[in-house]
Amino acid sequence: MRMSKKSKEHKRTKRKPARRGALRGTDPKRVRAILVKLDEAYPAATCALRHENPFQLLISTILSAQCTDERVNIVTQSLFPKYSTPKDFAYANPQELEQDIRPTGFFRNKTKSIMGASKRIIEEFGGNVPRTMDELLTLPGVARKTANVVLGTAYGIASGLVVDTHVQRVSARLDLTKNTDPKKIEQDLMKVIPQEHWILFSHQIIWHGRRVCQARKPRCIECNLEQICYSKDKTV
Ligand code: SF4
Repeated sequence: MRMSKKSKEHKRTKRKPARRGALRGTDPKRVRAILVKLDEAYPAATCALRHENPFQLLISTILSAQCTDERVNIVTQSLFPKYSTPKDFAYANPQELEQDIRPTGFFRNKTKSIMGASKRIIEEFGGNVPRTMDELLTLPGVARKTANVVLGTAYGIASGLVVDTHVQRVSARLDLTKNTDPKKIEQDLMKVIPQEHWILFSHQIIWHGRRVCQARKPRCIECNLEQICYSKDKTV
């Protein structure tokens, strides 16, 4: 029997019914599916802050608070040749350093953090950025987010997950957490994401948040997680 043009059209545009029994929340099968999709979309996600060693990454991460990575990279392009060691930062002229990092915002506080952290690295850690969460947290201006960036990206040590604004938003939309406090979000993610995925997962979610799952208008039509996502913010 030949199908009429109208019914062919109808068949093409008919919406799929909502899948019954679709996995929700942190069901391990759903989390695995999310990880697979993220690996497909962002197999080589990594930190966008340019750096040549753990110390530079630490400084860049401190500078990235309330600032875009692009702007930090522009500033560090001239900053790192001028201040190339922890000593250069630790004993810098604070007013001069303030002006050197001014475009990243909050430059007075950031100068104090950078100089304080550099001094402590020299005095307590032999000039090397420490490799443990507890030690990193003793550096001025360093909280868990910065420590996780340094440990994960510079040393390949998975001590936790980086929770920035993108990770907060996308994790909530994917219903991997109900919390809004970054420390609690990190604890939630640490329970459901296998540790071997922590480093890459953080980068992947940050990339996804920047490129697709944007704050104001997520580009759900381009999102390969759309079938798994039931966020009220969805735009399709
Ligand atoms: S479907 Fe939309 S809201 Fe859900 S993760 Fe993708 S972009 Fe974000």
